[in-house]
Amino acid sequence: MTFVDETYKRAESERIIAYHFDVAAGKINLDHEMWELLKVPFREIKVQIPLKMDDGRVEIFVGYRIQHSQARGPMKGGIRYHHEVNLGEIRALATIMTWKTALTDIPFGGAKGGIMCNPKVMSASELERLTRSFIARIDTSIGPNVDIPAPDVNTNPQVMAWIMDEYSRRHGYTPGVVTGKPVELGGSLGRNEATGRGIMYLTHEALKDLGMDVAGRTVAVQGIGNVGGHAAKLLVDSGCKVVAVSDSKGGLYNPKGLNLAKVSAHKEDTGSLEGYKDAEHITNKELLEIPCDILIPAALEGVITGQNAGAIKAKVLVEAANIPTSPEADDILLDKGVYIMPDLLANAGGVVVSYFEWTQNLQASYWEEDRVNRKLSNILLKSYAHVKQVSAQNKVSLRTAAYAIAIEKVARAIKLRGF
Ligand code: NAD
Repeated sequence: MTFVDETYKRAESERIIAYHFDVAAGKINLDHEMWELLKVPFREIKVQIPLKMDDGRVEIFVGYRIQHSQARGPMKGGIRYHHEVNLGEIRALATIMTWKTALTDIPFGGAKGGIMCNPKVMSASELERLTRSFIARIDTSIGPNVDIPAPDVNTNPQVMAWIMDEYSRRHGYTPGVVTGKPVELGGSLGRNEATGRGIMYLTHEALKDLGMDVAGRTVAVQGIGNVGGHAAKLLVDSGCKVVAVSDSKGGLYNPKGLNLAKVSAHKEDTGSLEGYKDAEHITNKELLEIPCDILIPAALEGVITGQNAGAIKAKVLVEAANIPTSPEADDILLDKGVYIMPDLLANAGGVVVSYFEWTQNLQASYWEEDRVNRKLSNILLKSYAHVKQVSAQNKVSLRTAAYAIAIEKVARAIKLRGF
């Protein structure tokens, strides 16, 4: 099958981030010119990638790298491999990276990339050739001082290693062109777990603010991939009980708590959660609505909407996925008193440790994992304290406060540098 992006349709995630941008920009009285400038990405690259498949057929893939802003430093953001990747989605994800790096005060801008493909039906050698061809096509627009990719949905340290190697073949050894690499190739200790670890830190902080103990809290995680899997494990290690998890095909529910090691072993052996014995099998839709204290969407965008928000029973929503909640759902959840830890803060742990990885690569000097985790915690807790302060001062949601802080920082950088 050949994937072709035929017509441009505004993605739901674009609508969502434009809405939050408008609300926050209005609160800070953002200049009209700045408003116009920040709504649109700085550069959008779309490439065609013809690939000879293992069986000799040629398939044509479409890849994107969208660079939203470089006002505060080199642009930064993951690369996603998924059959539903499209321009609007990548645009929204690139934009939110600009706000995430600004909010956490790390010296990067925002970007995102993706290839419309189904990696689950491709061999490792097809994926390697696809990755290398994509990098060859965007090679002049990335680099350690320009734009630094990282992992996202269906990409991993191995894909980052191919990116590093392909770029280095053309420019000389350059580990700082990509983060999330294997540790043997200049990756940072703690990077693989960083987004999940950040989720754990911020979940603990939210519970503390709500006067709720961590011990025994029930958690549901949609998508136990890199982010959701690590978050679930770290939360269990700290005393919570994970009662539901899912992957793209469906989920598991056990109100007494799931044995995560057994679940992962089953998934590794059989390739899915189907057939797992010690749990009730549920759909991804049901997972979002099951009784629990903490709900962690950790898969794709747009899963919590005006249609299902009313049925959500969790007291705390920690947005590990990017852009999982629509503005209509936000209103319903806030009315119900659900505490929402917004994506641009909740899942920032990954890009923060990517920043540590990049600095280690530039200095060719490597840190102990303790130092990585300590500095990660400091940055996330400081950013969260700032968001809470702005939210309380201006009587706005944590999400609007986070956007407002970030937009103001980016606008200030642009003003200082000159349009
Ligand atoms: P991943 O590919 O490792 O895992 C994704 C998980 O979601 C898998 O378990 C997959 O089976 C599941 N999934 C896919 N489609 C689904 C669907 N339709 N319904 C339910 N589950 C589905 O990806 P990841 O890196 O863990 O990323 C997950 C989310 O976290 C994404 O929104 C990503 O943008 C965001 N994020 C990732 C990072 C990072 O460091 N990897 C950083 C910040 C944010």
